[in-house]
Amino acid sequence: MQARPEDAGELSTTDRTGLRRRRERGSHDRTVAQAILDEGLLAHVGVNDGGTTVVTPMTYARVDEQLYLHGSPANRTLRLIADGAEACVTVTLLDALVLARAAFHHSMNYRCVMLYGTGTVVEDDAEKLAASAALLEHMAAGRSADARMPSQLELRSTLIVRFAIDEGSAKVRTGGPVDEDEDLALPIWAGQIPFDLVAGTGIAEPDLPDGTAVPPYATRYPARGPVRNTDTH
Ligand SMILES: Cc1cc2nc3c(=O)[nH]c(=O)nc-3n(C[C@H](O)[C@H](O)[C@H](O)COP(=O)(O)OP(=O)(O)OC[C@H]3O[C@@H](n4cnc5c(N)ncnc54)[C@H](O)[C@@H]3O)c2cc1C
Repeated sequence: MQARPEDAGELSTTDRTGLRRRRERGSHDRTVAQAILDEGLLAHVGVNDGGTTVVTPMTYARVDEQLYLHGSPANRTLRLIADGAEACVTVTLLDALVLARAAFHHSMNYRCVMLYGTGTVVEDDAEKLAASAALLEHMAAGRSADARMPSQLELRSTLIVRFAIDEGSAKVRTGGPVDEDEDLALPIWAGQIPFDLVAGTGIAEPDLPDGTAVPPYATRYPARGPVRNTDTH
């Protein structure tokens, strides 16, 4: 899902979403946050149950200014959110390893979003169905038209939580290492090692009926992110 001009604006800045360290890398621009959320596939959802803090990796989908999370009604993280617990949802895109001359200055290039808030359980079947479709579309565009969508029973067996994309921040690091001037003459390789998330060719289930059409996303899964400049000069 692409960020759209009408979605422009700022995420709410609060005491906890104002970047303190490396403030210049931060952004509260919704279009920046939306682009990261749309490119990412994996969210880390952190909640506290009053004692223990758990961070659970999950799939997600953005629909306008809402993020949907889903899982088993027994899922501890979703249950806590359903019961009103505050959550922090983080989505990270790793763009490069940054190797400096000095151990101290090694880093990573990334685009990252952190969102805070409480979620709402989706009760309405039509919204649950739309959220289920959005979760599939986020994985592979066109998949919701191909898959058998959830039955009433399956919908009832799925806990879906809606999380407003409102209070949060984005943070982006780009560029090479920032070494000390006195280290620049050292004969130690320094630079960036770019990282791309590359999909392989789909591996078909052995028991597919003969003649099952192979969808394009199974063999040529499209690049999710901006095309990287491969110029090595
Ligand atoms: C892939 C990756 C690797 C990293 N590795 C390290 C590491 O090894 N060591 C390290 O110290 N830091 C690392 N960072 C940066 C780290 O995420 C924090 O931004 C940084 O440590 C500052 O933390 P803080 O608690 O002092 O942030 P503060 O500036 O105090 O955070 C205040 C608020 O700023 C926002 N914010 C902070 N960090 C982020 C973020 N990453 N994305 C979006 N919003 C943010 C949040 O709203 C947060 O509540 C890494 C980040 C990424 C994405």
